[in-house]
Amino acid sequence: MVKVVKFGGSSLASAEQFQKVKSIITAEEERRFVVPSAPGKRHPADTKVTDLLYQCYALAELGHPFDKQLAEIKTRYQDIIDGLKLSVSLDAEFETIREKFAAGIGKDYAASRGEYLNGILLANYLGYAFLDPAEYIIFTDAGVFDGEKTNRVLSARLSTMENAVIPGFYGSMPNGRIKTFSRGGSDITGSIVARAVRANLYENWTDVSGFLVADPRIVEDPEAIETITYRELRELSYMGAGVLHEEAIFPVRSAGIPINIKNTNAPEDAGTFIVESTSRKPRHIITGIAGKKGFTSINIEKDMMNSEIGFGRKVLTAFEANGISFEHMPSGIDTLTVFVHQSEFEEKEQSVLADLHRLAKPDSIEIETDFALIAVVGRAMKAKWGTAAKIFTALHKASINVKMIDQGSSEQNIIIGVRNHDFEEAIRSIYNSFVFE
Ligand code: ASP
Repeated sequence: MVKVVKFGGSSLASAEQFQKVKSIITAEEERRFVVPSAPGKRHPADTKVTDLLYQCYALAELGHPFDKQLAEIKTRYQDIIDGLKLSVSLDAEFETIREKFAAGIGKDYAASRGEYLNGILLANYLGYAFLDPAEYIIFTDAGVFDGEKTNRVLSARLSTMENAVIPGFYGSMPNGRIKTFSRGGSDITGSIVARAVRANLYENWTDVSGFLVADPRIVEDPEAIETITYRELRELSYMGAGVLHEEAIFPVRSAGIPINIKNTNAPEDAGTFIVESTSRKPRHIITGIAGKKGFTSINIEKDMMNSEIGFGRKVLTAFEANGISFEHMPSGIDTLTVFVHQSEFEEKEQSVLADLHRLAKPDSIEIETDFALIAVVGRAMKAKWGTAAKIFTALHKASINVKMIDQGSSEQNIIIGVRNHDFEEAIRSIYNSFVFE
């Protein structure tokens, strides 16, 4: 058995957190490959080291003094070194960083130092080898992650190692420039490493005990999700359920490796298993509920639309031409509605309308704003009757007006459009009706 363990920023924010991490790693021999994030927040008002690095580099780029900011970052690491009584010194590393910042090395290099330095400390503390991902996580000249090449190079290297610490979040391009993933990207590195060593499990350690059925800022003390499929997770994270970087599922998914989200501060909690498919039934018909506010609907009417071949294409061309992606497109006989992100649409509104008139020649167009979309997701829905009835009964009892309904063709989700101001209440009423049935 081989497990890859990735620890998020809050799991490695202080010496005390490092101690928890070490006892988790040493508790199981299988936990051989470790992917750390940069030190995160130690308390809610704290700043992540990654953010400090971006800020510090922004000063350097403008030619302003940045020594004070860099010293602050160094203190974050020194506190960990002192707290763990490590004998390692980062003086030379910080001198290199200062020089490179002054020379305008680039924002990605700057940000990547958070993981790099934390990796050095963690490797030293665990007594594991340190592997710099600059050599093994490969991006193309265009800055696109090269999954196949990385997998070849990384798996060859790791196959000769018993243990290693591989910092998350970055790699490099053929010209040697450091390139990072998008924010939260250490999750992706963990997944890449898991694939490269053909791990049996990818454990992703964070500060919550897995995915929750609903957002705890909306529903009080929601239940945790025990097992979720990749597909369900995609639907939920697309709709705003955080915890794991969206792209982190791809490397392990193709290799059939499950992910277990675990809590560094409560390691005994089972957490959430993310799997390709499962015979395990979710506790409720639904697996989770998530949603987002801030959508606009564009209602397009045209008599005999249903018999006009190519009408949908013309409508969508108007959006495509303006670089706007659409979220949903429910249609009637002579009407078709396109849901888009309000913020994206606002800037290009008049240009889209002009294109719609020119291309599709509708009878009328009506725009409505301030919609929220809620996804009710569950693999068990497909085989069960009454799910929709239950959702809409709950919304009816809460006197919430439903503006749009869309059952995904996977039959694993039902998307509901409501007004922004009904969003929270809608989620609460759906949650209550399934969890306290
Ligand atoms: N440290 C990076 C960030 O804050 C990457 C990560 O933690 O995953 O986004």
